[in-house]
Amino acid sequence: MNAHRPIKTARELVETGLIDSAKEAAVAAVAERYAVAISPVIAGLIDPNDPNDPIARQFVPDAAELTLLPEEREDPIGDKPHSPVTGIVHRYPDRVLLKAVHVCPVYCRFCFRREMVGPQGLGTLTPAELDAAIAYIASHEEIWEVILTGGDPLVLSPRRLAELMERLKPIPHVKVVRFHTRVPVVEPARIDADLIAALKASGKATYVALHANHPRELTDEARAASARLIDAGIVMISQSVLLRGVNDDAEVLASLMRAFVETRIKPYYLHHPDLAPGTSHFRLTIEEGQALVAALRGRVSGLCQPTYILDIPGGHGKAVISAASIADEGGGCYTVTDFRGGEHSYPPKA
Ligand code: SF4
Repeated sequence: MNAHRPIKTARELVETGLIDSAKEAAVAAVAERYAVAISPVIAGLIDPNDPNDPIARQFVPDAAELTLLPEEREDPIGDKPHSPVTGIVHRYPDRVLLKAVHVCPVYCRFCFRREMVGPQGLGTLTPAELDAAIAYIASHEEIWEVILTGGDPLVLSPRRLAELMERLKPIPHVKVVRFHTRVPVVEPARIDADLIAALKASGKATYVALHANHPRELTDEARAASARLIDAGIVMISQSVLLRGVNDDAEVLASLMRAFVETRIKPYYLHHPDLAPGTSHFRLTIEEGQALVAALRGRVSGLCQPTYILDIPGGHGKAVISAASIADEGGGCYTVTDFRGGEHSYPPKA
């Protein structure tokens, strides 16, 4: 097969040695249900001899995806109840998601929008749908920030991205445009001068949130692609998902957060995995997540600390879920826990 195009089928996974032929039928059944794509860059990062490879676990389909649990939901974070027009999610007063495209350069096996993305997903907005989405943003003066997500907005050509940004430019109340993407990691060569110019075409403050979950994703090429964005004046932040078998280890998380900071990307969100269908093999308990986040606090600089969050099912938004380091003792006194687990009174007792 062609090493320059993504792997998309069970047969191609066998041919490239990413799965054993005994697994082909089960993986083909998963691929019928959920989109599969592994970019050549990501395929090259996988160690086919490691059955627990954390990169493979994120992208190579697994028969476990066909196990559905009653608590899992087709729309786990509740986009639909907050979608006033196609392509817009208006959950919080001052910002909207603009989902222009439902295609990604890779498909993550734990994706929270797995029922919406991919070739059988919601596709790209039609010109009329895009007109309505832009009109919605223009007519709601409370919208301060537009977040392009999807799908991965950086799969759009620089020309189409620039056209989209030009349409946001004259809307005076929109001050910030944010892109959520995996492209700097999974297709770093796409981050070229044309794409960067397109991202900045709105003239607004431009942010790029990079989705990566394991330190091995921050290759030299990914770091260089991020540096091109940052050197052009774009601010970068990170988002990661806490995933069993990928980054459920304090040392791995510490290395990931350090890799972001070394790349000048500020760690932003660490998501508790959502209740997406067929993803129970990735989920940790909230207690396990809290213990990992507490271990991170003792291990790495404050610059490297993301906020641990849960998207409340049903569309109720995000909640910070790290364990509290302070407890009210009453009478104006508190017990504060330090990063080693030691407890201290505040104010200190004489
Ligand atoms: S890049 Fe984002 S939207 Fe696309 S499959 Fe991964 S998690 Fe889902």
